[in-house]
Amino acid sequence: MDFLQQLGLEQENAGVSTGAEWLPSTGEKIQSFSPVDGRLIGSVTATDKETYDKVVAKATAAFKEWRMVPAPRRGEVVRQFGEALREKKEALGKLVSYEMGKSLQEGLGEVQEMIDICDFAVGLSRQLYGLTMHSERPLHRMYEQWHPLGIVGIISAFNFPVAVWSWNTALSWICGDVCIWKPSEKTPLCGIACQKIIAEVFAKNNVPEGVSCLVQGGREVGEWLSNDTNIPLVSATGSTRMGKAVSAAVAARLGRSILELGGNNAIIISQHADLDMSIIGALFGAVGTAGQRCTSTRRLIIHESVYDTFKEKLANAYQQLSIGDPLDTKNHVGPLIDKDAVKLYLGAIEQGKQQGATFIVEGGVLEGAGYESGCYVKPCIAEVTNDLAIVQHETFAPILYLIKYKTIEEAIELQNGVPQGLSSAIMTLNIRESELFLSHAGSDCGIANVNIGTSGAEIGGAFGGEKETGGGRESGSDAWKAYMRRQTNTMNWGTQLPLAQGIKFHI
Ligand code: NAD
Repeated sequence: MDFLQQLGLEQENAGVSTGAEWLPSTGEKIQSFSPVDGRLIGSVTATDKETYDKVVAKATAAFKEWRMVPAPRRGEVVRQFGEALREKKEALGKLVSYEMGKSLQEGLGEVQEMIDICDFAVGLSRQLYGLTMHSERPLHRMYEQWHPLGIVGIISAFNFPVAVWSWNTALSWICGDVCIWKPSEKTPLCGIACQKIIAEVFAKNNVPEGVSCLVQGGREVGEWLSNDTNIPLVSATGSTRMGKAVSAAVAARLGRSILELGGNNAIIISQHADLDMSIIGALFGAVGTAGQRCTSTRRLIIHESVYDTFKEKLANAYQQLSIGDPLDTKNHVGPLIDKDAVKLYLGAIEQGKQQGATFIVEGGVLEGAGYESGCYVKPCIAEVTNDLAIVQHETFAPILYLIKYKTIEEAIELQNGVPQGLSSAIMTLNIRESELFLSHAGSDCGIANVNIGTSGAEIGGAFGGEKETGGGRESGSDAWKAYMRRQTNTMNWGTQLPLAQGIKFHI
């Protein structure tokens, strides 16, 4: 376990940091057990309220300094952050894989996303464009500019334990904001490792304490962030249940939130699809990260004329899957995050059967050598109709539902016929179908793909979804605007004071 040392992780770790400083805290000890082998990796002390308040005070003071650093100079610090991540890619990727359970390839991919967002943010730090517009008044100039917002609170989920933090921080920092991050209590060591990497970069650049803060703990610590009027923006990634709570708390104080919540993603497999390519897309989408991606493929909506052929090919492909230690590159599927997740998986299979699902590839928990953690499960496939309660719900596990359709319009209706709206895809070589799918009469999701699966987004595009997925956008495109406040400025360079709308006001 060299990577633990390389990342500066101890058996017992302080959980609160404002940068280079680690603060003592009296919170409970969070023990992090690896789902890979069930071993205790290390523990982290959760944050108590008094220490949390100290962190907020530090961040508030740091914002006053950080916002005055020119944006391209902030970008230079983020560039160095990207370099530090390149150096630590292997070690951090292994930690992600060992603490969270995703395959090493996906762990490394997650760190690559962090590097990519840094590169994106560096370029953006010389942009952050506002517009100019023409004033109706003579000798006046009107324009808008984007100012830093303040503290950004980041609440993240276990399944992307490092990338979500960097999507938010890289943009926040170039925008002039400071961050307080609460990682998932299921992956606290990933939080410590990231904080140590950024602390070194910040120290070299004399970035003040408080620009990157870390607090640790569960729901309660997340609630402190949501209810805190010192925090103008809370970016929360996790379940829809969590998002509803955070959204209500932040809205009650008229703060802003970015919500990145659950998905129930489908691929439409048309009769015009390249079926071999579709198998790969469906397979990676459904079993990658053991079905624990927000963009995991949960439903396949298959044209009746290719349904049986596709079903058979897919079931065959499932037989080839190798399940086991995700750090061993020969395995395709690793464990679920913990035994609670295994219970939810088994419960969903049971409920599915009661509601009428027919399993064509059976699930189950794996036992024996290599599976001692009790978190390894078999990816499974069931034939269903879209209206089953279990199909309408996001089960965070590798359970794939097959649904049959006759017309493309019906397929789109089925695809949209769930409460969530994150990612969607169509496999087709027919341009009329693909254009319909991408049109305003098509997919209602934040992400709609053609001839690729539902998971594996690039950072250049805005990431997020509609309906119960929360409506937030992070990462690329103009997602940065959510991290800044817009100001409209009108300058009078004349000798008169004409009023807008031609209003006359004489004394
Ligand atoms: P979760 O909702 O259980 O926890 C997420 C985070 O929210 C954790 O840090 C947790 O401590 C915190 N939290 C929980 N309740 C809270 C509350 N009431 N107030 C404030 N904070 C609270 O989710 P999870 O099991 O860690 O992650 C899986 C879920 O995340 C899935 O639903 C998945 O789809 C979703 N997810 C969405 C995206 C996206 O970008 N849309 C990305 C990753 C994961």
